[in-house]
Amino acid sequence: MRNEIKMEFDAVSANEAFARVAVAALLTPFNPTLEEVADVKTAVSEAVTNAVIHAYDEEGGKVALRCILEDSKIHIEIEDYGKGIENIRQAMEPLFTTKPELDRSGMGFSFMEAFMDELDVTSRPGEGTLVTMEKKFAGQPYAAEEE
Ligand code: ATP
Ligand code: MG
Repeated sequence: MRNEIKMEFDAVSANEAFARVAVAALLTPFNPTLEEVADVKTAVSEAVTNAVIHAYDEEGGKVALRCILEDSKIHIEIEDYGKGIENIRQAMEPLFTTKPELDRSGMGFSFMEAFMDELDVTSRPGEGTLVTMEKKFAGQPYAAEEE
């Protein structure tokens, strides 16, 4: 079974919690462990936080969240239309941050990489950033369709 969900919200910090909880709610059919839920919530939170903090600076903007549930896997896309990333390889290095003055530790992408099975980042300066992540679940899918 395939299930696709799309939403769009303002790039404000209140929506980090919203996105994290929304994605966690979608995991139910996978019968996830608490650790798996925590991993996905952290990864989503880091990606949305980056859109809020880095993509739009002070100006604000939109964040798109798309999730596709298929078989035993969730595919998550988090996209912004902000300033983009000049050097993605450098941005993804542990401890690299362009905002040390805001107490950022430069670990967001490292956490996404550690907690998800796949992470891909594409970006165009001046146009925005797309973060794609996937995670597979080991548990038996919850048989919602059975009689
Ligand atoms: P932390 O996530 O630990 O608070 P951080 O956000 O600086 O710190 P990462 O999440 O790893 O660390 O991101 C590294 C750098 O990549 C950021 O400092 C920023 O320069 C850039 N970056 C990340 N996401 C975006 C984005 N959506 N738009 C523009 N730049 C981004
Ligand atoms: Mg970050």
